[in-house]
Amino acid sequence: MRGTGVLVLTLAYDCQQSCVFCSENEGLAGRHPSLGLEETLRILLVKRREGVKTVFIGGGGEPTLNLHFPKIVEAAKRLGMRLCVISNGLRFADAAFAGRVLPWIDEIVFSLHGDTADVHERVTGTPGSFTRVAAAFRNAAAGARALASMTVATRLNWDQIDRIVCRSLGESGARTCYLSSLSPEGRAGEKYEELVVPLAEWRRRLPSLAALAASLGGVLKTRLLPRCVLGDPRMDFSIPAAHVVYRSLVNGRSELVDCLELETHDQKGQVKTARCADCPHAAACSGMFARYVEAFGDADLGIVAA
Ligand code: SF4
Repeated sequence: MRGTGVLVLTLAYDCQQSCVFCSENEGLAGRHPSLGLEETLRILLVKRREGVKTVFIGGGGEPTLNLHFPKIVEAAKRLGMRLCVISNGLRFADAAFAGRVLPWIDEIVFSLHGDTADVHERVTGTPGSFTRVAAAFRNAAAGARALASMTVATRLNWDQIDRIVCRSLGESGARTCYLSSLSPEGRAGEKYEELVVPLAEWRRRLPSLAALAASLGGVLKTRLLPRCVLGDPRMDFSIPAAHVVYRSLVNGRSELVDCLELETHDQKGQVKTARCADCPHAAACSGMFARYVEAFGDADLGIVAA
C-alpha cells in the first residue's frame, strides 16, 4: 500500500468546551460514538504494520473523553510509535490522570487561548477552563517529555498574543508555542470575517513574536499561514501527508473512515491567486483560504525572497 509514516486518529466526538473557533462542532452533536478499545487497537496494529511511526491524536473532539484513552496511548507507545496528543487540557488538571497517561506520550499539546481567565474563557466559552488548563500545565511540566501550547489566534486574543507567548513559554513551562490561524469551518465559519486576524497583522508581528519565544528559550511555530506571510519557513508546522482515521456520516449512519491524505493534513480550501504566479515558494505553500481572499482580497500575499 502506498503509505506514509503518520497516522491522524480521532478518538472522541465530545468536548467539555465550546470554543468560538471550533471547526468540529457539527460533528460533536452526539452524532458519533467514541472509538472502541478493540477497534482502536486493531487500527494501531494494522497501521504499525503499514509503516506508521508517528501518531497524532487530536482533532474531532477532546481525545481524553474516550474512556479507553489511557490504554490506547499505552498501546501505541508499546507498539513503538511516537505519540503526539493535542488536548484542551481539562482532564490533565487531575494529577492522577496526568500521571497515568503522560509517561506514554512523547509530546503533549494543551490549548491556551489567553494569558488570563478573562481572555482564555472568552474564547473557550467555558468558565473555569483557564484554572484547569493552568493546573494541567503544572502537572505536565513535571511529567511530560515534551510540553507545548496551541493558541488559535483570533481578534478575541490577538491584542494579548505576546503575553500568551510569554505565559506559554514562561510559567506554563512549554518549550514550543504553536500559533494557528483561523480555519473557516464549523463555528468559526459562522463569524470568520469578524474573527480572523488579517495577514498583514501576522506579517507585522511574527518576527518579534519569534524573537520573544527565543528569548524565553522556546520555539514559535505557526499553522495555516502562507509562506509569504510566514517569512521563516522553519516556523511552519503542518501535519504531513497522513493516514487519517475518523468517523463520518455515510448515508445517515456513523461509519469509520480510513483514508490516505496525499497532501498535508492542513490543506483544506486554500487557494493561490495571480500574485502567486511567479512565487518561488508556490510548491511548498498551500496559499490562503478562499474565504479570506473573497472577503479581504489578496493584497497581503506576495513574493518573498527564495
Ligand atoms: S505568494 Fe502565494 S504561493 Fe507564494 S508564498 Fe504567498 S500565498 Fe504562497
